[in-house]
Amino acid sequence: MTEPATNRSFVRLEGVGHRYEPDPNVPPVVTGIDLDLRRHEFVAVVGPSGCGKSTLLRMISGLLKPTEGRVSVFGRQVDGPRDDVGIVFQKPTLLPWLDVRRNVLFPLRHKFGRYSRDDEKRAGELLAMAGLESFAEKMPDELSGGMQQRVGIVRALLLNPDILLMDEPFSALDAMTREQIGFDLLKIWEEQPKTVLFITHSIAEAVLLADRVLVMSKRPGSVLELIDIDLPRPRTARSISDTRFGELADRIRKHIYEPDVA
Ligand code: ADP
Repeated sequence: MTEPATNRSFVRLEGVGHRYEPDPNVPPVVTGIDLDLRRHEFVAVVGPSGCGKSTLLRMISGLLKPTEGRVSVFGRQVDGPRDDVGIVFQKPTLLPWLDVRRNVLFPLRHKFGRYSRDDEKRAGELLAMAGLESFAEKMPDELSGGMQQRVGIVRALLLNPDILLMDEPFSALDAMTREQIGFDLLKIWEEQPKTVLFITHSIAEAVLLADRVLVMSKRPGSVLELIDIDLPRPRTARSISDTRFGELADRIRKHIYEPDVA
């Protein structure tokens, strides 16, 4: 029987690694990563600082070539930046001279020289989904950090990427904003599914958002465990008080803080 498209491997990493230094005596930053991301699944990545999480994300995006192994998307090797990948970084870097709507539409304009009525309509819908409908005409410096980050997410989503790569997107936000924006992201992802790879320093955030959590070892970063987060969806603030939530978070914590015990 043919496997449904949604369950097929979408992004595949086979023995992927990277070394920035050509000197073979310097260990690689990341090594031997085997990973299959299914279409529309949400995978969070946690691991100690410097273990190569961002390096891994950049290799999947096509911005950085692996020095070991290969990355493929739907069976085709990634050998450069791809149109179907959206990236959200820690800081949204909005253009200060454009209002929110124009910031969101900017990549389309930059890429195609123009945008259509439909693009504007979709921008409006996405801004509404992100709770920003009444801020479309505001300038970036009139928005809070959380709102600016939402604008950055909407900007990445407007290109309707199949793959959304997020590199600690909420780490500059306070705890409450961070939790709320996480739920907002889940709502958008549930309505417009994408394959998401989400790097975070927060174990609780990883468990709350993801279908699976990839736990990486310290440098050279490799896969310690890929943990299924078998909590029901939709996830809500109540998910956090589920006993299972605590068990899963503890399991990840053991890897990070007591790597020899886990
Ligand atoms: P993480 O995201 O887990 O904190 P990174 O992927 O950012 O880890 O970095 C892993 C290691 O690779 C760090 O020690 C960092 O200094 C090094 N590194 C990252 N980018 C470069 C680069 N462009 N050139 C040389 N070393 C780099």
